[in-house]
Amino acid sequence: MSEEQFSILLVDDDKVDRLAVRRALSKAGLMANLTEAKNGADAMSELKVRQNFGGVDQVNCSDSASNYLGHIFDLVLLDYRLPDIDGLHLLSQIKAFNLYLPVIVLTGQGDEEIAVEIMKAGAADYLSKAKIEPKGLAKAINSAVRIHKAELAVELINKRLRISNELLIFKNQELERQQEQIKLQNVQLQESYKLKSEFLATMSHELRTPMNAIMGFSQLLLRQYGDPLSEQQQNLIQRIFSNSKNLLDMINEMLDFSKIEAGRLEIRPQRFNLGNLINLTIEELRSLAVQKQLDLTAEVKLKDSYIVQDANFIKRIIVNLVSNAIKFTDIGTVKIKVWEIDPDKIAIAITDTGIGIAPVDRDKIFQAFRQLDQGFTRQHSGTGLGLAITKSLVTMMGGKINLESQLDEGSTFTIEIPRKYDA
Ligand code: ADP
Repeated sequence: MSEEQFSILLVDDDKVDRLAVRRALSKAGLMANLTEAKNGADAMSELKVRQNFGGVDQVNCSDSASNYLGHIFDLVLLDYRLPDIDGLHLLSQIKAFNLYLPVIVLTGQGDEEIAVEIMKAGAADYLSKAKIEPKGLAKAINSAVRIHKAELAVELINKRLRISNELLIFKNQELERQQEQIKLQNVQLQESYKLKSEFLATMSHELRTPMNAIMGFSQLLLRQYGDPLSEQQQNLIQRIFSNSKNLLDMINEMLDFSKIEAGRLEIRPQRFNLGNLINLTIEELRSLAVQKQLDLTAEVKLKDSYIVQDANFIKRIIVNLVSNAIKFTDIGTVKIKVWEIDPDKIAIAITDTGIGIAPVDRDKIFQAFRQLDQGFTRQHSGTGLGLAITKSLVTMMGGKINLESQLDEGSTFTIEIPRKYDA
């Protein structure tokens, strides 16, 4: 027995038959809110008024249609023979108006043979009036309503699936559109990146010629052939020379960087004495350390001093790291240590007692154009390319670079490279 109350439209012109249905329902204990219609026209107008929410959308409001505002029919009990229309035609009218609800057709004597037609027309069930008994009627109503609700639920799920499918298709199209846009932007970016690199390479190249001329002529003047220069003149020319040298170093750095970026810098391995190279390079840089009264030392501990690598790369790396160490140290020492990690691996460490680098900045400093002090009032000159170049050169040699540092205490940059370059 069901606890649910059904709202049922009973369509029958025969008062006695209608009463019989009422009695059967109450006898079966089926809670029903019964509305009666005496003919097809009345039935249709009742249905249109109450069911005009139409189709599957009814169940959006509640999973129990009977609860919906208390006035949507859950089911129609339809007498097959009505004075104005027969059951089959009324059924098709109900469908035509999109009144989506289960209909049980009550057939009279002799109507049973059209039962198949009735079911084909979309009825939920049919019952012979002559054989109606309370239990059977209640059972038919319960199962018709249950099946109908299940159908509605399935249709609702399908509808939601359709909507989310459409949404997905739309989102997919949107994503594809964005992807196309990103691809286009990527191409444009690559194009402008290439242009920038070409510009950098050309400019650096073009700037080198006049810089070399300025340096050459100032050196000539400093030799003082013929007319000796006054002390002030010597001083001024000396400054022209050293500023030009700084500028040339920067230009060379930019040229190297643009070559690395364009993949045009080739590695040229050769066998050479690493200890000698380190000591010679240190001597070239000693004047910088002397100017700042820093102690510059080199400690080379190698069983075999010969390695097969690009000597120019290693010299560039030492110059970069030692110049930085001197640049960013005001008091104390700059030490270079060279040792063998194992017979096939060499380590070179440059340690200073300078300003140090905070942990958050340790990755940044290896990026091109990155300087930790980038304000206009910065104290140290430079392009911000030295470490980016250093890292690329170390990588090209098959090695790696590591940094240990403590703010205000100093830094150690260590590079590890294979003794023998392996192409
Ligand atoms: P540049 O020296 O031209 O500024 P680099 O790429 O060589 O460019 O260095 C990037 C930045 O890393 C420097 O501007 C500086 O802030 C920091 N840095 C590099 N070496 C040291 C060091 N030995 N001590 C402290 N800071 C350093």
